[in-house]
Amino acid sequence: MFIDTATIHIAAGNGGNGAVSFHREKYVAAGGPDGGDGGRGGNIVFAADSNLSTLMDFRYRRKYAAQNGEDGRGGRCSGKNAPDLVIRVPRGTVIRDAESGLVIADISGDAPVVVARGGRGGWGNVHFATPTRQIPKFAKPGGKGEELEVRLELKLIADVGLVGFPNVGKSTLISTISAAKPKIANYHFTTLSPVLGVVRVGPEASFVAADIPGLIEGAAEGVGLGHDFLRHVDRCRLLLHVVDVSGSEGRDPKEDFEKINKELEQFSATLAQRPQMVIGNKCDIASPEQIADFRAFVEEKGLRFLPVSAATRQGVDALPGTVYEQLRLLPPVAVYEPEYVRPNPALQDPRAFTVTRAEDGAWEVDAPWLERILEGSDVSDYESLQYFQRQLADGGVIARLVELGVQENDTIRIGEFEFDYVF
Ligand code: GDP
Ligand code: MG
Repeated sequence: MFIDTATIHIAAGNGGNGAVSFHREKYVAAGGPDGGDGGRGGNIVFAADSNLSTLMDFRYRRKYAAQNGEDGRGGRCSGKNAPDLVIRVPRGTVIRDAESGLVIADISGDAPVVVARGGRGGWGNVHFATPTRQIPKFAKPGGKGEELEVRLELKLIADVGLVGFPNVGKSTLISTISAAKPKIANYHFTTLSPVLGVVRVGPEASFVAADIPGLIEGAAEGVGLGHDFLRHVDRCRLLLHVVDVSGSEGRDPKEDFEKINKELEQFSATLAQRPQMVIGNKCDIASPEQIADFRAFVEEKGLRFLPVSAATRQGVDALPGTVYEQLRLLPPVAVYEPEYVRPNPALQDPRAFTVTRAEDGAWEVDAPWLERILEGSDVSDYESLQYFQRQLADGGVIARLVELGVQENDTIRIGEFEFDYVF
């Protein structure tokens, strides 16, 4: 099945914790701190893979997590950095922040892109030794890896997009000018996935054309299949608007032409501005009057009209060259510029917390950063406790408790830890 959007959760690895350790050696009484640093958590990286053509895999697996960095060890041993987790996606996949819809990256080029960064490794206690604090029994925990929901959207990379009502002969046309072999049938919606074809113009010259499944009226509002597929013509430099000039299905080619343009406009204003060439197909069964009439209609709009018959190949052989000449005048395939600004931990308050009063009268401090400090330290140790208390004061937690009316001997609860408030 062809799937061209998916939403997944990605989590980069956390940094490893710094180690609390002291140098030990035979006959040496008290060694200095020698706890090493934690390793960096793995990044989440996206890379283009030209062999992939669908995002279907992401419908089955929605969570991707890179490994955490290794914790530091004694003897000043740093933990290993975790490897990056590389997620392969079809070339042309645009990655957006699921919440804001902003573009994070366009995976069109060859360079892999880091989308979520692994947390930094924490510092071992070796960093905390000072002349007055010689036995630091605490270390810095590793930083949290970035974690977010991303929306993947496959936007094909094609120079030319064929658009038009179902059954006008788009698939027939692409199969005659390229090696692509889409299904051709005399009923609507034969093409359920876009087909890319490389059109050779000369030994060195070629372009990529995409056969987009039939647009129908109302496609921009999500009726039928067209809406999903309009996304694929988004990047095309030139649209080949295919029309059945013969009106073989009892339809009016002029009306068809206007309806499709209206769909494009409703989907995106920029898409409606994209250069178009109008291909009048099925000339083999159209009368000279029908062709002349439609030509006048198209040329009045200042557009180029190319009469062909995909069935008899009339006018088809010259088509690639004409399109190629036009493409040479147009800008290259659009690449989406990143818009998303990753939250800067330095700008966010790294020591944010909330204080609430629990039913049993205890003061509950919700502050993940404090919990991590507590987990990394030995609270029975005087220096560690001092360090912790200074964090409480510097972070504004004490001031907030006093403001809320904390009393001597009240219970303070921070995560799993509880202690009494003493002035
Ligand atoms: P699509 O839905 O636009 O991709 O149209 P298809 O390529 O599947 O063609 C629909 C029908 O029109 C098929 O039965 C084709 O054989 C027929 N067809 C395509 N091009 C021509 C043409 O130039 N002349 C005639 N007479 N029939 C055509
Ligand atoms: Mg088709």
